[in-house]
Amino acid sequence: MHIPLSSPDISDAERKAVLQVLNTQHLALGPRLDEFERRMASYHERRFGVAVNSGTSALHLAMLAMDLSPGDEVITTPFSFVASTNCILYVDAMPRFVDVDPDTWNLDPEQLPGVVSDRTRGILPVHVFGLPCDLKAITAFARERGFWIVEDACEAIGAYDREGLVGRAADATVLAFYPNKQMTTGEGGMLLTDDGRIDSLCRSLRNQGRGESGAWLSHERLGYNYRMSDLAAALGIAQLGRIDELLGKRARVAQWYDDRLGGNPHMVSQAIPVGLRKSWFVYVIRLADDFSRQDRDEILEVLHRQGIGSSNYFSPIHLQPYIAERFGFARGDFPVCEAIADRTIALPFFGNMTEAQVERVSGCLVGALQATERDARPLHAVRARRSPPESRLSGGA
Ligand SMILES: *Cc1c(COP(=O)(O)O)cnc(C)c1O
Repeated sequence: MHIPLSSPDISDAERKAVLQVLNTQHLALGPRLDEFERRMASYHERRFGVAVNSGTSALHLAMLAMDLSPGDEVITTPFSFVASTNCILYVDAMPRFVDVDPDTWNLDPEQLPGVVSDRTRGILPVHVFGLPCDLKAITAFARERGFWIVEDACEAIGAYDREGLVGRAADATVLAFYPNKQMTTGEGGMLLTDDGRIDSLCRSLRNQGRGESGAWLSHERLGYNYRMSDLAAALGIAQLGRIDELLGKRARVAQWYDDRLGGNPHMVSQAIPVGLRKSWFVYVIRLADDFSRQDRDEILEVLHRQGIGSSNYFSPIHLQPYIAERFGFARGDFPVCEAIADRTIALPFFGNMTEAQVERVSGCLVGALQATERDARPLHAVRARRSPPESRLSGGA
């Protein structure tokens, strides 16, 4: 029996909401779009929300709104989904990567000073796998130097850091609603901001550069068609109405995994610093250092053969062929990111997973580890580091 890597959680509320739109004249640019934007902005206590057709589109709009010139530099993390770097390339700017923290797997703020140049304009941090990065330290660093922050919260809706809900503070925050995310609109994304200029510019850019009047054949700037349909927006409203339930179910599944894998000496999970609430996007384990990338790939093979959806989230962005070639990156450039990326396994994870499925996946994983262990060197027990020192994240001592 196949267990997928991810699966959306759709109830009758979503079916009803989408059908209702189908029975109206407004399949696009209608009332559901406005309502979804208002609700999403208000959930995050932001002034504006601009809904678009993907998280990547929202990232592109955010970069356009930052008014970059060719050759300007944006600091970001190499351990993410590739869209968080691609958006920088879309506007002819240069990504400057900072290695990640070995425990939280998020951009390490202490390394920021090392990559600043006179071309640095902003920072694009990512809350990887739904764990808030240290936005407080990153913001303090950025404010001192006049850099903007565009926050990729595509994996982190509903997460909390020590200051509150993620997505309430950056110059622009980007969310995504692909079916594997915590909530979905099929395809979709949103840009949140408190800045009226960014809001109206992005609203125009997503709609073929049309002006505020909405005159259909009047285009004030080079725009795009990045619009979200009202069908998608209705789905989003229904999902947002269930957000606590959706997140709660995912947290419960994560707990089932933790109960079974938490004490295993051959793996660690992303450390959740005290005072933070992770929003569970995926369940990823990192094999201990004595496993090689080849061992990990073999384990993925074994899982696939047993019908268990699993993946190597994430492959380092700086080593993607077109980026490595263009900027001359090589293995060893961001060693912490690479050590993590070589050893991670994303296991099947979705809110409707049963405890029996978690049991089966965990059993298969442990079995696959033992098989590797028999073939390879004896393994040394590695202590799980579940909580890094407080200072790491608060930017103190
Ligand atoms: C999902 C995701 C995006 C956006 O993805 P789309 O498929 O374009 O909606 C961007 N950044 C990260 C880190 C993501 O996980």
